[in-house]
Amino acid sequence: MARNPNYDPLFEPVQIGPVTAPNRFYATPHASGMGTMRPNSSIALRKMKAEGGWGVVCTEYCSIHPSADETPYAFLSLWDDGDAELCAAIADAIHEHDSLAGIELWHGGFHSNNRGTREVCLAPSACSPEYAYPAQVREMDLTDIEAFRGWHRAAAIRARDAGFDIVYVYAGHEYLPFQFLSPRFNRRCDRYGGNFENRARLLRELIEDTREAVGDTCAVAVRLAIDELQGASGISADGDGRRVIEYLGELPDLWDIALGGGLGNDSCSSRFSAEGYQEQFARGVKSLTSKPVVSVGRFTSPDTMVGQIRRGVQDFIGAARPSIADPFLPRKIDEGREDEVRECIGCNICRAANNEAAPLRCTQNPTMGEEWRRGWHPEVIAPAKRSTSVLVVGGGPAGLEASLALARRGYRVTLAEAGGELGGRLLRESTLPGLQNWIRVRDYRAHLLGQLGNVDIYLDSPLQAAEIDEFGADQVVLASGSRWRRDGLGVCVREPIEIDTGAKILTPDDIFSGIDLAGDVLIYDDEHFYMAGALAERLLREGRRVLYVTPEARVSSWTAMTDEQGFIEARLGELGLETALGRRIEGIADGSLRLRVSGTGNLESLAFDNLVLVTGREPADELWAGFETPAARIGDCLVPSSIADAVYSGHRFAREFDENPVPPRRERAVIFAAGAR
Ligand code: ADP
Ligand code: SF4
Repeated sequence: MARNPNYDPLFEPVQIGPVTAPNRFYATPHASGMGTMRPNSSIALRKMKAEGGWGVVCTEYCSIHPSADETPYAFLSLWDDGDAELCAAIADAIHEHDSLAGIELWHGGFHSNNRGTREVCLAPSACSPEYAYPAQVREMDLTDIEAFRGWHRAAAIRARDAGFDIVYVYAGHEYLPFQFLSPRFNRRCDRYGGNFENRARLLRELIEDTREAVGDTCAVAVRLAIDELQGASGISADGDGRRVIEYLGELPDLWDIALGGGLGNDSCSSRFSAEGYQEQFARGVKSLTSKPVVSVGRFTSPDTMVGQIRRGVQDFIGAARPSIADPFLPRKIDEGREDEVRECIGCNICRAANNEAAPLRCTQNPTMGEEWRRGWHPEVIAPAKRSTSVLVVGGGPAGLEASLALARRGYRVTLAEAGGELGGRLLRESTLPGLQNWIRVRDYRAHLLGQLGNVDIYLDSPLQAAEIDEFGADQVVLASGSRWRRDGLGVCVREPIEIDTGAKILTPDDIFSGIDLAGDVLIYDDEHFYMAGALAERLLREGRRVLYVTPEARVSSWTAMTDEQGFIEARLGELGLETALGRRIEGIADGSLRLRVSGTGNLESLAFDNLVLVTGREPADELWAGFETPAARIGDCLVPSSIADAVYSGHRFAREFDENPVPPRRERAVIFAAGAR
């Protein structure tokens, strides 16, 4: 199909210093949990984005020196020529598809604990390291600063020689050059501290050093956290952030505008931000510099993207998450297939992967992180070897994804869903405050299923075991989901607890089914992800009094992984949530809960009107043993987990169905010969 002419501006080439991007789609640097630790995966990931049409494809953060070591997190490095070989392979892979390759040179300052390298931690001023660690960070003296500039120069030369087109100076996300810039972290009294020019001195020098190092074949980009959302005490878009651009505007070839004050600000989830939410900070930068500007904002709508360009907010469409959810987003828009874009839902499961030091994964894109390991391509799937009919039971994330991937392979697919609408848990969970974008997981798949001629969908079809056999499919895929437990077993409570007969226990399933709640609500959270907090938010907004009880020390503690915990705590606090933290359930009676208080070990009793347990879940797999047709279970009905895992499970089944199982490839460390370096 032809491209919509309204979107033509997105496909204009843009000059960045000495190099030219073929279009305005700019895959910004983002952590992938791969780096030097998983080099083959890293190459394949960036290559896929280039194939998908991103005019610029950047690497993740690339450490310039062993004093920038974030073990156990995975990062790239350019410490020596050996590292440069991997980086060159990434650049080559990006170039195979004629995209520009960008590399983000990085030093973490007090973010770098150097647990792997055991180098001294460095920062503009003495402090404690970012990640809790019983050590201190040394204030850099002038010799350290000279050495640091030398490391940066050497890494820039290696990056150029490795074939990169754009070399970054990274003054974002509270890393070292930004630590010098921000008065919150820089308490120096020498020429690198105090007034604005002094605090910006290192950044200016780094830009100049990098330019000198890479010569006139590479562009120099600066990633700047223009606002750290700390008010007057920090860098702000209408204060020192703006002054940086006024002062250094013409020095680099490109400005990549980001936010500081923690990654949660810069990759804010959809629960706490809308598409294009960073415009308020990036707007105005272009009026201060003649150089191209790029910024992110979870852009998935081509109309919004064109709006950014036409209104002069930025020259590129910066994207990390949208390029993870759909590496082929630019190509699809180019080919008039924007309705096929797998839109990011802003759930931040990708951020969780990084925060867990695990390889990247994505709710919408089950192939993410599997490009090399399993050889999965997001747009290509092996055709079926034989004509087989498959009955998929359940139209939640797992059943939808399995149906779509199987149908794309050419199988004859029938999808039976008990309810009147496709979506499974998405139907319920996307009604929670802020989670409306999550329904895109259903919408993308339902839309594409509707275009395929080899799929039949039956709604309002709760199948019984006998009906499954009667249907006569060659293969059944059971995707019937899960239900919340009522016995209190969860992450912290693993042994059965005493529950009096007659004790009235509710679960999220009851709340979603619209049960009548009279009085206050006590939510006991031993799952620690979004569910308990989001339910609490809904109930508080309905005007109810909510007491949140958990064995953990914080509300929705696991959401620290999705960079949301602080936002959740703040929002629930504003809404008047009452909390009882550090309390583990020991027993439930009619109208009261017995809790063990952590630390003191005391027993406590809490009365409740309504008790909602948000603990573990169990498979809704009653059908499993009841029919004869060959079958497999996928998603929550195999093992309850995240939506991302359900989609992955469905996709994996479809990929492996009728194929000889091939174990995933593994990244392996090299064994050196004795004496070799
Ligand atoms: P998952 O995340 O694994 O996809 P969900 O709970 O989101 O699981 O979805 C499961 C879906 O399966 C729900 O939409 C539910 O209505 C449907 N389902 C469960 N049992 C049956 C059945 N016997 N026949 C048809 N659909 C079913
Ligand atoms: Fe978007 Fe969620 Fe995928 Fe991250 S994991 S790219 S937020 S859909």
